[in-house]
Amino acid sequence: MHNKIKEYLKGELKGLQDQKLYKSERIIESPQGAEIIVKGKKCLNFCANNYLGLSSHPDLIKAAHEEIDRRGYGLSSVRFICGTQDIHKELERKISEFLGMEDTILFSSCFDANGAVFEPLLGPDDAIITDALNHASIIDGIRLCKAQRWIYNHGDMRDVEEVDKSTGKAGKGLERCLKEAKNCRFRMIATDGSFSMDGDIAKLDEICALAEKYDAMVMVDESHSTGFLGKTGRGTHEYRGVMGKVDIITTTFGKALGGASGGSISGPKEIIDWMRNKARPYLFSNSVAPAVVGATIKAIDLLSSSTELRDKLERNTKLFRTEMTKAGFDIVPGDHPIVPIMFGKYPDCSKLAVDFANKMLEEGIYVTAFSFPVVPKGKDRIRVQISAGHETKHIEQAIAAFKKVGKELGMLK
Ligand SMILES: *Cc1c(COP(=O)(O)O)cnc(C)c1O
Repeated sequence: MHNKIKEYLKGELKGLQDQKLYKSERIIESPQGAEIIVKGKKCLNFCANNYLGLSSHPDLIKAAHEEIDRRGYGLSSVRFICGTQDIHKELERKISEFLGMEDTILFSSCFDANGAVFEPLLGPDDAIITDALNHASIIDGIRLCKAQRWIYNHGDMRDVEEVDKSTGKAGKGLERCLKEAKNCRFRMIATDGSFSMDGDIAKLDEICALAEKYDAMVMVDESHSTGFLGKTGRGTHEYRGVMGKVDIITTTFGKALGGASGGSISGPKEIIDWMRNKARPYLFSNSVAPAVVGATIKAIDLLSSSTELRDKLERNTKLFRTEMTKAGFDIVPGDHPIVPIMFGKYPDCSKLAVDFANKMLEEGIYVTAFSFPVVPKGKDRIRVQISAGHETKHIEQAIAAFKKVGKELGMLK
C-alpha cells in the first residue's frame, strides 16, 4: 500500500474544505421529480436538468421495462463486435429525424460524444474555434485533438481583441479568430447551444453566417436544449432559425430526454460513418443498455407527437421569470428554464447566496448556490431550473418562498 499519495491528498482535501470548495452529495431517497425526498423530508426540486419532467414519467418507465423483457439487460459488447440491436439503429434514426440531421451515432454519454468528435476529424493543419465558456467535455475533447486552437470571448461575434466580461481574461471575438485561422485546411466552430450557468443561448444564426463567410463547420452541443428549445423542441438551431445549417450536433439523453444516460453525435452521413470507424469512445466502450434505448425512443416519440411538454415548460418559465423580476430579484432576462438569481449587488454575496439556499431548503424548496470558482467572483447566484414536471402551484410555492427568504435576509423590502 502506497501511503505517500494518501497523505498528500489528505492535505489537498482539507485545503478544499478550508476554501469551501469541497463537494459533498445530498442524498435523495425517492425517484427524481418535481417532488423529492431528502433526509426523510419532502421538498420541491428546482435544480435538476429534468426540463420536461420525463425522468420518472410512467410511459418511459414502462418502455424501459418492456425493452428489458424484449431485448435483455445488457450487451456485453461494443457496437461493432456484437453490441448493435435493431433498437440502437431505430434510436439513431429517430434522433436524426428529430434534429433534422442526416445520421446519428450513439455513445454512453454526451461527455463521450464530445470526447470522440474532434480527434478523428481535425489534425495539426486544422483549426478549432471554441467559446470561452464551453462545457468541460468540449474542452477535454479539443485537448485530445491535435488541431490548432482559438478561444473566442463568450458569445462575442466581433472582429476585436479585448478583455472578456465573462471570464476577465484577454481574448478575441469569433470573427477575429476566423480571420486568423484562414490558412488552415478545415475550420470548426464549437459552442454550447445553451450555456448552463447563465442560461444564455448561443447566437447560432450569427455563428452560422460567420461560418459561411469564412468557410467553417459549426459544431453545437445541445445538451441543455434538445427536447424543449424552439417551437417544436428541436433545439437551438430551431430557436435561432438555422435548422439545416449546423454541421454537427452532440446531445445527451441524461437531461430533458428522460435523464438516464447516453448521448449522440449527429451530422452528415460521411462524418457519422467516419466516427463509426475512428471514434475511440465508440470503438472501445460498451453499447448503450436496451432499457435506456427503449425509454429514449419513447421520449422522442412523445416529443415528436406533441409539443405539450415543452409548451408547459415555456409557460412555467415565463411565470417564474416574470414574478421573480416583479418581486425585485436580479435576474438576467431570457427564455431559458435555467434562471440564475444574481447576488452580486449585495454585500458579502457568496455567503448570502449559500445562506439563502439553505433557508430555501427549510422552506421545502431545493435550490443550489454557485460561487467562485464555479462562476466568476461577484457573479454569485442561485441557479433555478424550471421543469414541465412542476405544476403551477409548485412554481407559486417557490416564488413565495423566494420572497419570504428575500425579506428575511434584507434583499427585498
Ligand atoms: C451535461 C452536459 C454534458 C454531459 O452529458 P452526459 O451525457 O451527462 O455525459 C455535455 N455537454 C454539456 C453542454 C452538458 O451540459
